[in-house]
Amino acid sequence: MAYQITLIPGDGIGPEVIKEAVRVLETVGDTFGHQFDFEEVLVGGCAYDATGEPLPRESLDSCQKSDAVLLGAVGGEKWDGLPGHQRPEAALLGLRKGLGLYANLRPAILHESLKNACPLRSDIVGEGIDICIVRELMGGIYFGEKGRRTNNDDMGEEAFDVEAYSVGEVERIGRLAFEMALKRDRKVTSVDKANVLESSRLWRSVMIEIAKDYPEVTLEHMYVDNAAMQLIRNPRQFDVLVTTNMFGDILSDEASMITGSIGMLPSASLGEGKFGMYEPIHGSAPDIAGQDKANPIATILSAAMMLRISFDLENEAKEIEEAVTRVLEGGYRTPDIMSDGCKLVGTAEMGNLIIQAMSFE
Ligand code: NAD
Repeated sequence: MAYQITLIPGDGIGPEVIKEAVRVLETVGDTFGHQFDFEEVLVGGCAYDATGEPLPRESLDSCQKSDAVLLGAVGGEKWDGLPGHQRPEAALLGLRKGLGLYANLRPAILHESLKNACPLRSDIVGEGIDICIVRELMGGIYFGEKGRRTNNDDMGEEAFDVEAYSVGEVERIGRLAFEMALKRDRKVTSVDKANVLESSRLWRSVMIEIAKDYPEVTLEHMYVDNAAMQLIRNPRQFDVLVTTNMFGDILSDEASMITGSIGMLPSASLGEGKFGMYEPIHGSAPDIAGQDKANPIATILSAAMMLRISFDLENEAKEIEEAVTRVLEGGYRTPDIMSDGCKLVGTAEMGNLIIQAMSFE
């Protein structure tokens, strides 16, 4: 079977980590007899430099025609001074809108062998952490009405960003979270700020309605300030955590830190059907770009999520994930996850080790 994959290497370390993920996918393709056809497109700062736009029309077209998209990272200081709509990060919002990606799935898993990299006490971590954060991606304050205005007071110019959610928007993300919970430990924690925000009160009432269709799943509600605290105090209480665009942005980064390194965590952005965009949660890490220091594991695990979710290739996805675990158990580490007694390797060598560790029995 042939699969069309659009590759967005992007900026900074993006091209380095995408290169390793592609090598892993090619190895999987050769071994299992799948054909992965890659098309590479420009998005982000590199696209702005080449075309004057961070998301050129032909790049979006390629993504829309493909079965899945694999993205490295975009952005960097060089483009920080540009107006908002020309900045590389605007391309990410454009991709989400253009591809109808309304849900972001971020598994936050603490690998047994990386327990030392976790900043929490070992009694809090216990036997490990495994949280699935489901973040709404196409609504809320990031996409709401925004602007500047001058009021008739002496406080000067005012800026505003509107947080708005419709029943339909909450319902589709809510259902996705409950479906995820059915495949896991059957608990959904819905995070909001219903004591203050009207949009959160609507969010909460929709979640309560959806829960009636999933009697096997336990629903609990948590205010976002408490959730930020509970992730540190007792992260093992969470199974699936579903929340709004902005709260999810913040909480998923917090969850990534308690699992060790930002270089380890994959993510999937999903819409209707099987199509998805897969990317590591980290940014373009300009401080280490081009130095063979980037950890490619988050991107390689994103490729595994793509095989599982978009292509239904469960065995192939597991093969990659188990190879990563074996390499970590073997003591190999990129600089971001290095600890005493381990063997330091670069980006390309980490890719080689993961390819060698795939057993293909
Ligand atoms: P970042 O994630 O790029 O880097 C934060 C820190 O983590 C840095 O010290 C970096 O060296 C380290 N790091 C990140 N990924 C790593 C990896 N794979 N291996 C080893 N170390 C890694 O976040 P930032 O510094 O806030 O942002 C840099 C740029 O990336 C900015 O322009 C930002 O807008 C952009 N950004 C892009 C995305 C995206 O493309 N999805 C996401 C976040 C930030």
